[in-house]
Amino acid sequence: METVDVVIVGGGIMGWSTAYNLLADGFDGSVLVLERDPLRRATSTSLAVGGFRQQFGTEINIRAVRYSVSVYENFSELMETPEGRPDISLRQRGYLFLAGEKAWPVFQRRYELQRRLGVEVSLLKPAEAQELVPELDLEGIAGATFCPRDGYLDPYAVLQGFEAKARQLGARCLYEEAVAIERDARGVRGLRTSTSVFATRTVVNAAGAWAGELARRAGLDLPVRPWRRQVYVCRAPVAPDREFPMVVDTTGVHFRSETGGLIVVGGATSTDAETFDLIWDRSAFVEEIWPVLAARVPLFDTLRLENGWAGLYDENPIDHNAIVGRHPELPGFYLINGFSGHGLMQGPCAGKALAELIMWGEYRTVDRSPLSPARFAAGKLVVEEAVL
Ligand SMILES: Cc1cc2nc3c(=O)[nH]c(=O)nc-3n(C[C@H](O)[C@H](O)[C@H](O)COP(=O)(O)OP(=O)(O)OC[C@H]3O[C@@H](n4cnc5c(N)ncnc54)[C@H](O)[C@@H]3O)c2cc1C
Repeated sequence: METVDVVIVGGGIMGWSTAYNLLADGFDGSVLVLERDPLRRATSTSLAVGGFRQQFGTEINIRAVRYSVSVYENFSELMETPEGRPDISLRQRGYLFLAGEKAWPVFQRRYELQRRLGVEVSLLKPAEAQELVPELDLEGIAGATFCPRDGYLDPYAVLQGFEAKARQLGARCLYEEAVAIERDARGVRGLRTSTSVFATRTVVNAAGAWAGELARRAGLDLPVRPWRRQVYVCRAPVAPDREFPMVVDTTGVHFRSETGGLIVVGGATSTDAETFDLIWDRSAFVEEIWPVLAARVPLFDTLRLENGWAGLYDENPIDHNAIVGRHPELPGFYLINGFSGHGLMQGPCAGKALAELIMWGEYRTVDRSPLSPARFAAGKLVVEEAVL
């Protein structure tokens, strides 16, 4: 039986960011990443819209994204390998949040918090929002917030960048499924895949939307469920070089530019559901998303839906926030889960933090202790309202 110091289950951004940070920070043990989906067809990281924003409503999330943005701004240098430098198509075109009358006081409160933490965000009058996006209809808009350092990037390139660098630093990857986590009186004792058994005292649950399922394989409860969300790629009647910021309507429907006159659109619909099923449903766009889009941007009345996909949010239904840290009931079982649709923009920070906790038993760079899974039993929820 092979002995491994750290086994990471899941080869999405959380798994590879943790592996990278462990090794980049000097961990000298062995690191093995297990991934059952070599092509990452269902991996949420490859199916994300790619947005990142510092405009959150809780300090813990604002700090997470601020750290992660600084990593993304330097990603190609940080992840350089002998094969070259990754290009993550970083576009800092800003996030423009539109607020209606009722939500406007909440946005102003969030703005104060964001500014206090150093976010370069502005409060805009409706007409100022329209200067940024002249195509907007301002019906029902009381104000807006805009942060030019927010934006979007290529999620798959981020995943590949972390993976390549972590492998160069010594991480190994095995394309197998973790089927059981074995325990003894001290805690984690080993991990079983379909073909192998590893002796280890440290297992990281980086299984994304499947994290609850993996926890059950260790005999534990974890409030993470798969929540299907859909993305729509549309040809918009705009010049091929028109680049929008990420625009977030009062309803939560949001869009950003893609190259060649395309826009990528997201938003909740009534067909979103708790399921592992990745069926993509065109009618939800036509019936629920398009009318909202066309009301906010009348020009989009004539856009053409070209394609799209469905992916799974790693949803924490209790307080919609990440769950990071040691599992309180099983020593050696670490969690980096429940990002509830914000994992791409928090992955660099979360991986750094978890690596520090594993190596040194404490957070040294960005404190994540409020996100500990122990918060549920202690009744210390960290509720994030600014979720899309
Ligand atoms: C439609 C959509 C849009 C999104 N847009 C954004 C966005 O704009 N910005 C943002 O920040 N976030 C966004 N997200 C959220 C983001 O994609 C996730 O929070 C993040 O990718 C989670 O990363 P992860 O590594 O935890 O999970 P994943 O990327 O899903 O990786 C988990 C991996 O674990 C593997 N796995 C699971 N169980 C096992 C097992 N037992 N054995 C072996 N392997 C296993 C899976 O195959 C998978 O590859 C979006 C998500 C979706 C679905």
